[in-house]
Amino acid sequence: MPSKYERFKIETKPAPHVYQIPNKFDVSARKVRLAAMLVHEAFEYKLNKEVVLSRPCIYGVFGGRFGGFKPLKHKCVGCMRCVQEYPHIMTVKHSDSYKRLGDSFWTPEAVFTILNEASTGKIPVKGMGYKGAFGGEGFDGIWTDMSEIVRPTRDGVYGREYISTSVDVGRKPTSVDFSKIDRASSTIEIPVPIIFDKLSAGNGDVRAAVGMAAEKLGTFYVSRERTPFDFGQESLIPIGNEEGIEDLVERPPAIVEYDAEKSDLFEKLASRLPSSIVIARLPLREDSGMIACKLAHEGVHGLHLYADYHGQDYSKEPQHISASLKEVHQQLVKGGLRDQVTLIASGGITLAEHVPKAIICGADLVGIDTTVLVALQAEFRGETRDRANCQLKPRKIDPEWGAQRLVNLFGVWHDQLIEILSAMGIRDVRRLRGDIGRSMMDAELRELSFKGIAWAT
Ligand code: SF4
Repeated sequence: MPSKYERFKIETKPAPHVYQIPNKFDVSARKVRLAAMLVHEAFEYKLNKEVVLSRPCIYGVFGGRFGGFKPLKHKCVGCMRCVQEYPHIMTVKHSDSYKRLGDSFWTPEAVFTILNEASTGKIPVKGMGYKGAFGGEGFDGIWTDMSEIVRPTRDGVYGREYISTSVDVGRKPTSVDFSKIDRASSTIEIPVPIIFDKLSAGNGDVRAAVGMAAEKLGTFYVSRERTPFDFGQESLIPIGNEEGIEDLVERPPAIVEYDAEKSDLFEKLASRLPSSIVIARLPLREDSGMIACKLAHEGVHGLHLYADYHGQDYSKEPQHISASLKEVHQQLVKGGLRDQVTLIASGGITLAEHVPKAIICGADLVGIDTTVLVALQAEFRGETRDRANCQLKPRKIDPEWGAQRLVNLFGVWHDQLIEILSAMGIRDVRRLRGDIGRSMMDAELRELSFKGIAWAT
């Protein structure tokens, strides 16, 4: 019998920017010194125009009609070779328009990374060494233990060995009930631990792009509204409410969410939609752990915990989603409930490494929100933190183009997830969940190392 085994693969292909993005680098040359150097090199290279005008940049920044006098700035990758070779002539710095990208949370670097991942479907490789900080706030304060990065673990990256990124959504039974053994499984497997969360803003085209991408990727997208014209109907997770129950019964979704803060719909949804997975959606607060345990006791199949779009929870003293997630996860573990329910986390998941880090903090999978709009070249018009008033305005797009950009983004994030899992020696992303022991927290290490040592000011 032929094997039905199929390796999960995301097909990426270029989906170039439709709206112009700023040049990252501003390249300029001191013109008189450049002219003097060109005269000198013209003699040295026997007036070979091509060579003289293109040096020293192998990326063709000086390959335009006017060479270094009018550099093609969009081609600059910031390798700094020209500055190292001709420090008296060349200056390369971040452009002002690049520095204005994003808001107080979305750094220009993060916006640029998402735009390019969505456009090329390739992992950004800088090749210049990492020049930034090694610790920081939020997810930047979590390091993963990559001590397993030895040759055999590369097998996962190069495809000689399979690393599973599939996760299960739904309630898992703790014992076998023989009277229900012939029923369909109460969980759904999705091949990548990422879904599209409800978007703060969008238009029909953005919605169509998200639906198409979810269908292609085998994942899901959350939406408050549901229309018969939606793309990827099977992939839609509606947010149910009292008035919409009849509509849901008519076309039962595979997964349904409800606002656990506003209504107590679980019993109703679970009885009217026996084949659906019912997930309680609730904001992360100081009491979320206790509420999560209560809901898990009542029988909900999963919890979708969300922070604001900057990854801060809704506590009186807001903390990062990574900290609040850990608390909820640990309370569920203490209550003996963790293995029964699925935890989805969203808010502030904006870079590929946030996925494994959120999973380490206790999530089974994550939801992305503003990241979707950034990938689709939405425009920053202010702060994006507030879910009700997010200043990220979508632009007019072609849904097919948008879907490909999102598929590319997932492809790149999937590759980076495999990279981390392989370096950690983990063959299945499910095993990463809550594995705090395989991570190091910057703040804790500082406390341990420097506690009691007075700082000179
Ligand atoms: S920094 Fe590198 S890519 Fe940019 S102009 Fe100089 S040599 Fe070219």
